[in-house]
Amino acid sequence: MIPQNFEYAAPGSLKEALALLSNGEARVLAGGMSLIPMMKLRLAAPEKLIDLGRVPGLSGITEEAGSIRIGAMTTHHEIEDSALLRAKCPLLAEAAANIGDVQVRNMGTIGGSVAHADPAADYPASLLALEAKVRLVSNGSERTLSLEEFLVDTMTTAIEPGEILQEVIVPVENPAVGVNYQKMVQPASGFAIVGVAARVAKTNGKPVFVRVGVTGLAGKAYRASGVEKVLLETGDVMKAAAVVANGVDANSDLFASADYRKHMAQVYTARALTQALAGAA
Ligand SMILES: Cc1cc2nc3c(=O)[nH]c(=O)nc-3n(C[C@H](O)[C@H](O)[C@H](O)COP(=O)(O)OP(=O)(O)OC[C@H]3O[C@@H](n4cnc5c(N)ncnc54)[C@H](O)[C@@H]3O)c2cc1C
Repeated sequence: MIPQNFEYAAPGSLKEALALLSNGEARVLAGGMSLIPMMKLRLAAPEKLIDLGRVPGLSGITEEAGSIRIGAMTTHHEIEDSALLRAKCPLLAEAAANIGDVQVRNMGTIGGSVAHADPAADYPASLLALEAKVRLVSNGSERTLSLEEFLVDTMTTAIEPGEILQEVIVPVENPAVGVNYQKMVQPASGFAIVGVAARVAKTNGKPVFVRVGVTGLAGKAYRASGVEKVLLETGDVMKAAAVVANGVDANSDLFASADYRKHMAQVYTARALTQALAGAA
């Protein structure tokens, strides 16, 4: 299908992009991997597209005072391939490597993925487990939100009209923490039927730090604090995994019923926790 008519602008600076965005019914374009198909299906019909592709300073991965800052326009492939992330935040590089196919990873961006807030997207599980933050800028102001605050609901975020997601901030990983991302792939789309990211540290074999993020199961990705609590209290992976879907209103579609998804969430949580524990120092 052909999208509705729209105006196109390719600003050369962030200031110019923000000025254009504050004017009328406009939407920013990043990798176009989600927005363009939505426009072709007429599920989105922005009057104006503001292409961020020529805005300098919006991509790149840098380390600063215990954190790693990832520009919104950094592609999935750059994240997957980043020596810095592989060494200092391997969970995120692992999540990126799980996204779609090579073409999607070459074009799609972390900012676009996070702003799109697809409930089956890969990054949110890892970003929640990492307690990541996002930095939003608008004409004259900026704010930083935790990913939990940012993800509001299915394809709905806390982003306000006129705001651009500028960067995603993750911590430099403690080398003692074991990390793992397990994804049950929907074979047609490549998205997650369920995806579970885990970070675990242990002392004398007992878990002393646990963070778990889950995607694909519910209307939005969530931090599985029940799983974290049970693993810390019992050290028992199966008991911890058993509570991952407690109280969750699970998604159901042609490929996976809610009950099947809940069951697979337990299986994939157990796998992610086991692998993360094995990798913990
Ligand atoms: C065939 C296929 C398979 C895929 N498989 C997977 C998969 O397995 N896992 C997965 O997680 N994803 C998958 N995706 C989605 C992919 O990761 C997209 O790249 C991502 O969802 C959107 O990123 P984008 O840069 O392409 O954003 P765009 O499509 O350009 O934009 C998406 C939305 O975000 C907004 N936006 C973009 N950047 C910003 C910004 N900086 N600030 C504010 N708003 C912004 C846009 O206005 C738009 O509403 C797949 C996509 C395709 C086409």
